[in-house]
Amino acid sequence: MEGTLEKLKAIKRGEIPVVEHVQQQLERVKKRDRWLNAFIQLNPSVLREAEGIQNKLKRGEKVGRLCGLTVGIKSNINVRGLRVTCASKTLENYVSPFDAEVIKRLRAEDAIIIGMQNMDEFACGSSGETSAFGPTQNPKAPGRIPGGSSSGGAASVADGLCDLSLGTDTGGSIRNPCSHCGVVGLKPTYGLVPRQGLIDLGMSLDQIGPIAPDVEGAALLMEVIAGRSPNECVMLGVERLELLKQLNDDVKGMSIGISRKFEELTHPEIMQVIDKGIETLRDLGCKIVEVELPNLEKALSAYYLIVSVEFFSATRKFDGRRYGKRIEEVCGEEVLRRILRGAYISKKEYKGKYYQRALQVRTLIRKELIAALSKVDVIVGPTVPKLPHNLGEKLTVSEMYSYDYLTVPVNLAGICAGVVPAGETQGIPVGLQVIGKPLSEQQVLKIMRAFERCRSG
Ligand code: GLN
Repeated sequence: MEGTLEKLKAIKRGEIPVVEHVQQQLERVKKRDRWLNAFIQLNPSVLREAEGIQNKLKRGEKVGRLCGLTVGIKSNINVRGLRVTCASKTLENYVSPFDAEVIKRLRAEDAIIIGMQNMDEFACGSSGETSAFGPTQNPKAPGRIPGGSSSGGAASVADGLCDLSLGTDTGGSIRNPCSHCGVVGLKPTYGLVPRQGLIDLGMSLDQIGPIAPDVEGAALLMEVIAGRSPNECVMLGVERLELLKQLNDDVKGMSIGISRKFEELTHPEIMQVIDKGIETLRDLGCKIVEVELPNLEKALSAYYLIVSVEFFSATRKFDGRRYGKRIEEVCGEEVLRRILRGAYISKKEYKGKYYQRALQVRTLIRKELIAALSKVDVIVGPTVPKLPHNLGEKLTVSEMYSYDYLTVPVNLAGICAGVVPAGETQGIPVGLQVIGKPLSEQQVLKIMRAFERCRSG
């Protein structure tokens, strides 16, 4: 399969006509998506947009960095004129009147928005099964969950239904489905990508990030969406990122942290794939160093407390007066559970008992990760500790939450992490997680790219 950058070049040179390219993908969506269920809505003006870009190319005008590539959008990011449902009955009929900042950036670079993608309801979930529009399939491991909550994004990129996708990651929702579907994803450092126009799950944790078939695609999309927006106050002072230029640099001599903690928490078959991946990095000339993460498993309960409180507060606007239905009356079980938990914890008499404690654990996790990262360039390990279950299989709440053990620490710490395919076990893809210091996206992607190149021979 050709890489994203090669495809982009071929489009720019006119070798792949934009309209034909989009038509082919729409054909594939038609054929595959009845089964896959990765899209909630296709963009009705997608071909018109493609024509516009094709004409621009024909006239020899300057074109953008994403010229003619199709991007699927998770249904919690506002796209003007499309249904931004959060895969919930609550917002079933909500058509967005505006473009989120990241969507404006995509359009400015001549990307084509192909449609709104399926997800866990309000991004609450790790399996893609809590959508009011039905679950998404895993195209790489049919019958299994694709992971979540950016289920539609990862599944559609894995199945070639679009070139790229925008997902969101609050506790692992980009990395988890990318790992299960065998594609590349990145959770950016908190405050690097504008959140304006994103419907919050947990506003102190949420980041929008890229999903792509390869590391170059993820780096390219990241370059376009990252950087300070003057209208947003909770952002880092980074104007723009340059990632592609040094993406193929040698990684020899870089130091890679590994932790025994990962092994304790992870299924041995997954660990086998990861250990092989670590050997690959050693062969590339990286130095492998043990780091200590003694409190890592405490992150999970702290995360669920914090996310429930923030989500409870974020959902108060869905009271039926402005955006359709009252959330508690129509939402699914997991969303309701979080609202009730968040309401309970928020009650004054419990202050100091749960939420404050969770914030203390958050500080502890952040310090621990930053300390470990100060000794190495990046930390690598598994992304998800368990293999994806069969679609429809009943799991307990804590079994479901335990998918998130290895991804939530990164969100609590506000740092960045990417996922790159590392191999398979029982025919199921397994992704290697590469964790970096704040704003070290370049290092993380460089390691991922070297690893990907080495694996593809
Ligand atoms: N699985 C986690 C949760 O259910 C993460 C979700 C996310 O990152 N949006 O909260």
